[in-house]
Amino acid sequence: MMFDIPQQKKRAIERRIAMGQPLTGYGWPGMTVRWCTGQLKTHLISKEVNRLKKEQNALHYIGIAADEAHRCKDDPQNRYPLVEWKITEAQALQICYSRGFDFGGLYEIYRRASCWCCPLQRIDELRKLRTHHPELWARLREMDNRARAMFGPGPLGQFKKDWSVERLEERFAREEKAGRK
Ligand code: SF4
Repeated sequence: MMFDIPQQKKRAIERRIAMGQPLTGYGWPGMTVRWCTGQLKTHLISKEVNRLKKEQNALHYIGIAADEAHRCKDDPQNRYPLVEWKITEAQALQICYSRGFDFGGLYEIYRRASCWCCPLQRIDELRKLRTHHPELWARLREMDNRARAMFGPGPLGQFKKDWSVERLEERFAREEKAGRK
């Protein structure tokens, strides 16, 4: 999707042509264009959940924690057990640990374990990705180089507004060297 999906909408195609951009690929997602959240998660889940709710009167159990209750929606077919039981995010993690689910130790390293290639994550999380998962960091560099070659240095082509992954690599390497002195 990031590189190959053809643009379908007339307006999007016209905009791409006007900007001299390729007619395929969404490029990097950003704060205002989070195509990945919609296309790869929420639209797919909603479609199936809505079908089950309608056809089988199913209930939808959602793991929103008590300390993020503002995200709950007012829908009689939704259930929020963690909110109901007043279990916070931190408590839920401890309960998982006590039952033997440790997520391969990811939460010992990272603040959040979502997409490793997310451009919206904090710089500090990316620093940790480089240290603890160098194979993913190498893939991220490849993706960003490909995106910049394809879309240029604008929002579609550059990983973060002020940072390409190559520049982050230079920064982290510099920090590492300074730390070793
Ligand atoms: S975590 Fe980041 S990359 Fe993953 S779906 Fe959400 S916004 Fe997109």
